[in-house]
Amino acid sequence: MKNILPFVCPHAWSQAQLWVSALQAAMPEEHIVLLNELNIKERTACEVAIVANPDPNDLKQLPNLKWVHSVWAGVERLMADLDHNPQLKVVRLIDPQLAATMAEAVVAWTLYLHRDMPLYARQQRNKQWLEHEYTPAEEKTVSILGLGELGLAAAVKLKAVGFKVCGWSRSQKSIDNIQCYYGDNGLLEMLAKTDFLICLLPLTPQTKNLINHNFFSMLKKQASLINFGRGAIIDDDALKQTLDFEHLAHAVLDVFHQEPLSQDSWHWTHQNVTVLPHISAPTNRKTASAIVAKNIQQYRINGTIPKYVDRKTGY
Ligand code: NAP
Repeated sequence: MKNILPFVCPHAWSQAQLWVSALQAAMPEEHIVLLNELNIKERTACEVAIVANPDPNDLKQLPNLKWVHSVWAGVERLMADLDHNPQLKVVRLIDPQLAATMAEAVVAWTLYLHRDMPLYARQQRNKQWLEHEYTPAEEKTVSILGLGELGLAAAVKLKAVGFKVCGWSRSQKSIDNIQCYYGDNGLLEMLAKTDFLICLLPLTPQTKNLINHNFFSMLKKQASLINFGRGAIIDDDALKQTLDFEHLAHAVLDVFHQEPLSQDSWHWTHQNVTVLPHISAPTNRKTASAIVAKNIQQYRINGTIPKYVDRKTGY
């Protein structure tokens, strides 16, 4: 008989059935079902579930859950919602395809800034024919906040383009051709020489509002920022002031405190902001399902739960 494996996601989510189908195709030995299709006995028997932004009340319907596998890489909302259940382990998606997609986005939007595309687009709107000085990539420093699954893949691709690449993480690291920093002093040193700053940090109690007035004061004047991590890592008032005072040249923002971005938000119309609707690295249903399938299969064979989120650090 097949094991029952619930997929828990927001009710009436438009992608729910697509995910159920992709997960089912990746693990024919399991029976993937939405939570509302399970009776009480079946719910009680579940030790593992696959989740995508689940309602915490839905997870409470599975009283014997040991762990959940998220199909997203960022799990801060899930972690915040699970305070009531300190034993439940959360496994987040680690997918090389996702890392490659993010690295591609990082290279694309770094080149957008490096080759002055916002400026030339503005000039075109004003019918202005004006050349600006070109600086080779080799003379520009790109710094990445976060050298995890996504940050490291981005660093390698940026290096291949020719940039000088730095990275900042919580622990000390040594990576070929990437200048690695950690801690407050490391951050200070790195920011002072940064031309393009990429945020690929997870949102945790430590990183919330990390990019604030004090942070911007350490950043090289006329640097630009790309935030592909989470909106709440940036203090938005500090960002606006830093842009208005032209200390920061441009911000490419893919993530916001509130998503979708509200119609009256200042970001939409700020001439030095590029707004993206959280598109830098969408999860690939097929590759993600294959990874989840492998992890579930291992658990069914010998009870191994993959590396899970550390409750203390929040990532
Ligand atoms: P990860 O593998 O957990 O890497 C996190 C990195 O951040 C690690 O290098 C870690 O340092 C560092 N870090 C964490 N807290 C820190 C702190 N307080 N100070 C300094 N460094 C810190 O995460 P990932 O898979 O690369 O994903 C990163 C984030 O990207 C996700 O959490 C998610 O929010 C976001 N994301 C966005 C999109 C999008 O479409 N915009 C898509 C996917 C993911 P150590 O190496 O020392 O542990």
